[in-house]
Amino acid sequence: MPFEPADRLQALPPYLFIEIDRKRREAIAAGKDVINLGVGDPDFPTPKFIRKRMAVALDDPRNHRYPFDEGVPEFREQAAKFMKQRFGVEVAWQRELITLIGTKEGLGHLPLAVVNPGDHVLVPQPAYPVYQAASIFAGGVPYHMPLTEANGWLPDLSAIPSNVARSASLMFLNYPNNPTGACATIELFTEAVEFARANDLVIVHDAAYSELYFDQRPNSILEPPGAKDVCVELHSLSKTFNMTGWRIGWAVGNTDVIAALAGIKSNMDSGQFNAIQQAGTEALAHADHVEVKGCLDVYRERRNVLVDGLNKIGFGVTRPEATFYVWARCPEGYTSMELAGRALDEASVVLIPGIGFGEPGDRYVRAALTVEADRIAEAVKRLAAIDW
Ligand code: PLP
Repeated sequence: MPFEPADRLQALPPYLFIEIDRKRREAIAAGKDVINLGVGDPDFPTPKFIRKRMAVALDDPRNHRYPFDEGVPEFREQAAKFMKQRFGVEVAWQRELITLIGTKEGLGHLPLAVVNPGDHVLVPQPAYPVYQAASIFAGGVPYHMPLTEANGWLPDLSAIPSNVARSASLMFLNYPNNPTGACATIELFTEAVEFARANDLVIVHDAAYSELYFDQRPNSILEPPGAKDVCVELHSLSKTFNMTGWRIGWAVGNTDVIAALAGIKSNMDSGQFNAIQQAGTEALAHADHVEVKGCLDVYRERRNVLVDGLNKIGFGVTRPEATFYVWARCPEGYTSMELAGRALDEASVVLIPGIGFGEPGDRYVRAALTVEADRIAEAVKRLAAIDW
């Protein structure tokens, strides 16, 4: 009998990066010097003080057993301290905070805890594709909130029809934003909290890039009054501490939603390796360490090289305030696929076509600042040599 994947997998939008992936592999196989601005994965090692703590934790046999389901208390307590110090948000970690195996895991599981089949889920576009996929896996019906340059990449909540808002059980938000690099205003967060309370829905705010900023510190959605009635925020150690491979983060916010998420997780995973949580505790206790904050200066320099370079070529780029992404408007007449195709064919530069983040992204490409400044300068030089 031929195997057919389950309907929920077939319901996902098509994977649009296949063509770019194929071309990238061909270029590498042909011996071309490919500059990959596609991958959002820090190119710095995890800071030494974190690795040292991990080495000690690894040698402790108590850590070799099943982890604590909801996370080790010391990690959760330290994450709560971080929320207080960084955002001024008080957290009762025993009830309001659990460890995640990375924010992606939390995003994937959260709709299963909140959404009933047929409920609307409010999903921004362009966006990290997991919001849409996780909503569909839970039987939800995504309703897209377009993010546009004109509205500063913030959703227009007043444009959501009231019947959709009433039948929605969950809204995803993500600031600092992937792919646009935009930051939310505290006014947006306040408005979103009021909207969620009025429509009886839960907000999950993905704050995976909250520490990757250049000037002003991004806010937490848990700051406005009453936010904990309706919000859960997901945090990650991945980008802040160059720990993408370690898989650790946390979910914090509304007690009932956190308990429901823990209920799903206890049936799906058995928590993160205790040793990683202990290393994560060390990381959070020294979030201002020079090995951590020093990366921001490097990203800033790379950002300036790329933004200035692309603007000279005629791509429309606003200098991002946060994240390590640059979101560039394609020159007139190009779709994102056409532009990324030419960049790869003629300059061996990998850019991510914006259409992969949803329809409103189709006039843009995303570049990640995770290669050295001189390679970025080389990429700009090659792109400038193309007759756009
Ligand atoms: N959220 C966004 C917006 C991301 O871009 C990513 C990874 O690229 C993640 C979450 C996943 O982060 P983590 O490594 O914590 O799972």
